[in-house]
Amino acid sequence: IWADVLGYVRKNISEVEYHTWFAPVKNLGVQEGSLVLGVRNSFAQEWFRKHYLELLEDALRSLGAEHPQVSFQVLPAAQDALLLPNDPPPPPPGNPARPAAPLIVPGENRKSLNPKYTFENFVVGPNNNLAHAAALAVAESPGKAYNPLFIYGDVGLGKTHLMHAVGHYIAERFPEKRIEYVSTESFTNELINAIRDDRTTQFRNRYRSVDLLLVDDIQFLAGKERTQEEFFHTFNALYENHKQIILSSDRPPKDIQTLEGRLRSRFEWGLITDIQSPEFETRVAILKMNAEHNRIDIPQEVLELIARQVTTNIRELEGALMRVVAFSSLNNVPFSRAIAAKALSNVFAPQEVKVEMMDVLRQVASHYNMPPDVIRGSGRVREVVVPRQVAQYLIRDLTDHSLPEIGQFFGRDHSTVMHAINKVSEALGKDSELTASVELLRRKMKG
Ligand code: ADP
Ligand code: MG
Repeated sequence: IWADVLGYVRKNISEVEYHTWFAPVKNLGVQEGSLVLGVRNSFAQEWFRKHYLELLEDALRSLGAEHPQVSFQVLPAAQDALLLPNDPPPPPPGNPARPAAPLIVPGENRKSLNPKYTFENFVVGPNNNLAHAAALAVAESPGKAYNPLFIYGDVGLGKTHLMHAVGHYIAERFPEKRIEYVSTESFTNELINAIRDDRTTQFRNRYRSVDLLLVDDIQFLAGKERTQEEFFHTFNALYENHKQIILSSDRPPKDIQTLEGRLRSRFEWGLITDIQSPEFETRVAILKMNAEHNRIDIPQEVLELIARQVTTNIRELEGALMRVVAFSSLNNVPFSRAIAAKALSNVFAPQEVKVEMMDVLRQVASHYNMPPDVIRGSGRVREVVVPRQVAQYLIRDLTDHSLPEIGQFFGRDHSTVMHAINKVSEALGKDSELTASVELLRRKMKG
């Protein structure tokens, strides 16, 4: 039946569309009267619902179905060799002769983890290198390096990804270790249900017997006294037994309002680290990895254009890539800068102000309290060189200008500009004063 459906579909859409969308689909059979199709990611799932549901229903009707139903399921990334290079081996066959030892099924302990969120799939840049290093240290010696590890940053910057990465790392090396990932929201709801059903003991046992506890978006503890109380005891039980705890939040502990002092101070016992918005090169690298994983062959210059349009949120960055892919496949045209610009125009253009070189220079100049011409001049002292490098870095980050164009603007050649950009990139995340300046300026100019 699936082959017939495909045959029907193929007759009704373009070849490019067919190959982009239908070739990778897996038929998962019929469940409860509905044809279930496996798709690669949630974007594809949404796309199918919006654009191909009717076509698929028509196909089924043409095959005689009276009330055709189609549903879509995101395939676990494990089925994608590229996404999970370290796929766990299949579980060993049980040995009925010796049932004594509990059977440890490899991979069982990562049930609560997203298979995509591994260290391998995490692009490291100046915006997240400290958080990444801390996460890796914790993964290598859980309970010993930093406990708890507290990661904060704005939404869509990789906090959840990094937490899961630690989980995978530990799960792979220690199949017997119990790993639990939970959002603060689920933790709260489970607690409420447990109280209602008189199962608080079970609830406690569950969370106090893990080896690694990952609690996401802990800022939602604010104002929830009962949950804070319960979490306080969970925290203590784990901490005393040297079990690793990792917490994420959109802000540092000191900025979480109505959080009990004793919890706040515990959150500060270990290491607090943040993730910032990714800079241009990192954004391009993330897009590149994404394209490769999805087996999309897309030119570098198109990736760069996307990276210029979406600057703060990585989830949106990925969404923009998918939008460009969808747009060109639907219109049956190859990827190009023009197509990408068109695909993204109505989504991002209104918010993104076009920033020009002179604007950037003026902002940098006023930030450092220095005339623009001095920054553009030939002075070699540090007080001038740093603002100059920052200006070149930000122009590259925020505008469409090439290295030679920036060089010309500053009366220098493109390799000097490249050197300046590298200098700033390297210092970001290390030199806190510089990092703060760059962040502030970037935010200002994006208005
Ligand atoms: P947060 O929890 O901070 O809101 P997520 O961890 O959910 O953000 O990340 C949002 C999306 O961006 C996810 O799909 C994640 O895989 C991706 N992502 C974030 N940071 C990186 C990175 N450094 N490299 C690759 N992908 C990333
Ligand atoms: Mg998150």
